[in-house]
Amino acid sequence: MTTEHDPATKDGRSTIALVAHDERKSDLLSWAEFNADVLRAHHLIATGTTGALLAERLGTDVECLLSGPLGGDQQLGARIAEDQVDLIVFFWDPLSTQAHDTDVKALLRIAAVWNIPIACNRATADYLLSSPLLDTSYEPAEPDFNAHTHRDLPL
Ligand code: PGA
Repeated sequence: MTTEHDPATKDGRSTIALVAHDERKSDLLSWAEFNADVLRAHHLIATGTTGALLAERLGTDVECLLSGPLGGDQQLGARIAEDQVDLIVFFWDPLSTQAHDTDVKALLRIAAVWNIPIACNRATADYLLSSPLLDTSYEPAEPDFNAHTHRDLPL
């Protein structure tokens, strides 16, 4: 199941992005099932395989990007840079190497740049999802654009 979500028409829901590497997918699905009621109240986006599994398990709409190794992590990174993601649950696998390791690093990096809350394990995901801030219009501080435009380069 996929749905489009237009961030320009903010509807009070947060956009929660979910990604899990293969060895972490069962962990993510079990966490998501436990938190199904909360998750269903928000707009969910996910990399391809994770999203398809979540939609089936939760019986709810999930906007599916491409599969992670095929560019889904990069698509998600673009959404973050476009201010379209409020929270990320990214169960990356700390015990295996990934063919798309550069994309994984890029996703973690851009989430840090844009000050987006990101949970990489179940305990942190529980803390984030139970935060009272989730149901507010909390806006994380953005990067200092002026410091990063290279406007002052001596060209
Ligand atoms: P997937 O991608 O949800 O399509 O498996 C996850 C990833 O490996 O980044």
